[in-house]
Amino acid sequence: MIYGAIEAGGTKFVCAVSDEQGELKEKVSIPTTTPEETLGQVFAYFDSFELSAIGIGSFGPIDVNPASSTYGYVTTTPKTAWKNYDFLGAIRNRYAIPVGWTTDVNAAALGELKKGAALGLSSCVYLTVGTGIGGGAVINGELLSGYGHPEMGHIMVRLHPDETFAGCCPYHGNCLEGIAAGPAIEQRYGKKGDELADDSAVWEMEAYYIAQALMNYTLVLSPERIVLGGGVMKQAQLFQLIRQEFEKLMGGYVELPSLEEYIVPPALGDNAGITGCLLLAVEQLAK
Ligand code: ADP
Ligand code: ZN
Repeated sequence: MIYGAIEAGGTKFVCAVSDEQGELKEKVSIPTTTPEETLGQVFAYFDSFELSAIGIGSFGPIDVNPASSTYGYVTTTPKTAWKNYDFLGAIRNRYAIPVGWTTDVNAAALGELKKGAALGLSSCVYLTVGTGIGGGAVINGELLSGYGHPEMGHIMVRLHPDETFAGCCPYHGNCLEGIAAGPAIEQRYGKKGDELADDSAVWEMEAYYIAQALMNYTLVLSPERIVLGGGVMKQAQLFQLIRQEFEKLMGGYVELPSLEEYIVPPALGDNAGITGCLLLAVEQLAK
């Protein structure tokens, strides 16, 4: 059985196929332009394989509610060509096989849980801190979704006493994403994150915000592990700063594993999402 996977991002689509055992065999990268153009290349790639199922982890927001008339659509994205686009429908029209559908970050959570940093556990949160902030989760072995999917990046946070930046989320101003994603760092300091590596105040403020988010996810979802990925988390010093701030905020109220084991980087690196998409394909076929 060969499975296909699509990790659909705002700048690129990663498409992959598995070997007979469901393990990642090869992947290609396709630029995200218009649905017609991008999916044309996706079809050209997959058409040469005898796929049994496909798993999609998509940028969003997307409609993941099977009861909705727009299930499978990309909904309110700022990428106008993809707004209200029936992404899942387009794939299903092309391939008469089971297709799994979730967010890119839910897929990454699944990948890390089954084959990565949360191996052997039954729950984890995956948070990416990059151009935006997004989180997904697997809880008791199930991808987290309900009426919609989680939007863990848009939660409210307490502002740092030294904060000078107003925030840049077009919907909420200084929500977590608006105050702590890569573009917020860049706008606050006038430099990109990787150029600020040696400025400890930058990362202390960043950790101040991310730790609050992790406190909230911990208190609401009680995951067994939190995996932090994305470009901003390439600043490895953040992990220890976040753990320290998290410990301070939690105040000893909830019992947790050691924080070195609880707040961790991805073990699959850039393959977390695509690995999760393959697993989603396997699950979808089994359903
Ligand atoms: P995306 O979120 O678009 O998928 P990334 O996860 O790579 O992509 O996030 C890009 C953001 O991360 C940019 O704002 C960039 O400035 C920031 N970033 C990338 N690498 C680093 C780094 N080494 N240190 C700090 N910030 C970084
Ligand atoms: Zn927001």
